[in-house]
Amino acid sequence: MNTKTENYHIEIRDLSIEVVRKDIKHFYIGVHPPNGQVRVSAPLRLDDEAVRMAIISRLGWIRRKQTAFMKQERQSQREYVSGESHYFAGKRYRLKVTEQDCPPKVHLLNNTRIGLTVRPGTDRDKRGAILYEWYREHLRAQLPPLIAKWEQKMELTVNEVRIKKMKTLWGSCNIEAKRIWLNLELAKKPKSCLVYVLVHEMVHLFERHHNDRFRELMDKFLPQWRTYRDTLNRAPLAHEDWAY
Ligand SMILES: [Zn+2]
Repeated sequence: MNTKTENYHIEIRDLSIEVVRKDIKHFYIGVHPPNGQVRVSAPLRLDDEAVRMAIISRLGWIRRKQTAFMKQERQSQREYVSGESHYFAGKRYRLKVTEQDCPPKVHLLNNTRIGLTVRPGTDRDKRGAILYEWYREHLRAQLPPLIAKWEQKMELTVNEVRIKKMKTLWGSCNIEAKRIWLNLELAKKPKSCLVYVLVHEMVHLFERHHNDRFRELMDKFLPQWRTYRDTLNRAPLAHEDWAY
């Protein structure tokens, strides 16, 4: 079997489209939640211009799909009130909000509820910020042993791993600075997903592109990476968070 594949991005108007060229018969195009990222699988026989034309001929359909996702995202805006579902470490919890005149705090009440204690009158944005600070602390606490473990396994060093909210990426890597950014949203996912994204970004220190060598390195260090990636993207989490 010919497993040769090639990944790259092309820009059409304001769209950045991920293209995978591989040994297949037909052209596939997908628009993915929640931000409407466009991904294309194209047969090797199609040249760049043919791929570009195939995408352009479907621009109307792409825009319709993207508009639908944008509506969905607006609907899923959180209110941070009691009873609302929130994910933490791969599990769904119900929020229980308590108003109390003391410093705000977040803690797990049991394995179905997250308690959020806020001062009376705390608005939605502030409640969200308090919850996200808790997510950040949780994620940050997991990093040092995890980084040390993978640095040793992969025989490399990372200068810095930082956490931030990102719209479209689970992680990113500045290869020159050996600095990795992880998406704060990973706190909502199972730990295997955090491991997958971290190892993925660390593999970029060996190989910049998502090519065959990159996949070979992923197979070597984390043979189950495809399963983890699928977990990361699986609905219903995917449309609440971000596709990769
Ligand atoms: Zn990557």
